[in-house]
Amino acid sequence: MAAKTVLKLKGVERFYEDAAGKLVILKGADFAIAQGEMVALVAPSGAGKSTLLHTAGLLERPNGGEVVLNGQECGQMSDDDRTAIRRNEIGFVYQFHHLLPEFSALENIMMPQLVRGLSSKEASERAAQLLDYMKIGHRSTHRPSELSGGEQQRVAIARAVANAPRLLLADEPTGNLDPATAGYVFDALEALVRQSGLSALIATHNHELAARMDRRVTLSEGKVVEMVA
Ligand code: ADP
Repeated sequence: MAAKTVLKLKGVERFYEDAAGKLVILKGADFAIAQGEMVALVAPSGAGKSTLLHTAGLLERPNGGEVVLNGQECGQMSDDDRTAIRRNEIGFVYQFHHLLPEFSALENIMMPQLVRGLSSKEASERAAQLLDYMKIGHRSTHRPSELSGGEQQRVAIARAVANAPRLLLADEPTGNLDPATAGYVFDALEALVRQSGLSALIATHNHELAARMDRRVTLSEGKVVEMVA
């Protein structure tokens, strides 16, 4: 049986308009990702990778077309509905960790769960499990400034999946790390995705990491295009 489609973009249009004119980024972009699939998004700076991730992740609305998550068209939903879906079904990881500096690693991972309504006990148990899984259980009481770059990113990844989303969107998650650290952070990310059955769309400039994913796509003339070889 074919795996379920988690995210589908149909004819997505996205443009920015200012005094200088109209800048078209996505022009009839189509894309689908199945449950459990890991897809690399490889394109030069400015091509529209972040725009695609933000549109897919319901942070930006498309100017046209459909963004279908788990069979539901989300492009036209109310802001409240989009926020609820984003909170429960989508995890984000950025190039910079964006952890809250005054909270510990454990508390940072608890936060989205508390926002969702879990008890403090449930949230801290899940956060501790995720830290162990990311092999940084011994760092749980440390604040972000007391962690290395690789450890900070592993906490950010754990936070992104704290609410067990179905889709993980990552914007150059290892882009700020040296090659060896990037390798082991990606190992942890890949293990998590493979073990949990998450779908992941990961923008990266790193061709070695891209080669480890199931598929590679790029952006060309505002469309999502499969990369061959
Ligand atoms: P990438 O992630 O591939 O570097 P982006 O999606 O960030 O590309 O940006 C694509 C293009 O859209 C760039 O030229 C960028 O300057 C422009 N852009 C992005 N966000 C906005 C915005 N909010 N307003 C105007 N232009 C934007």
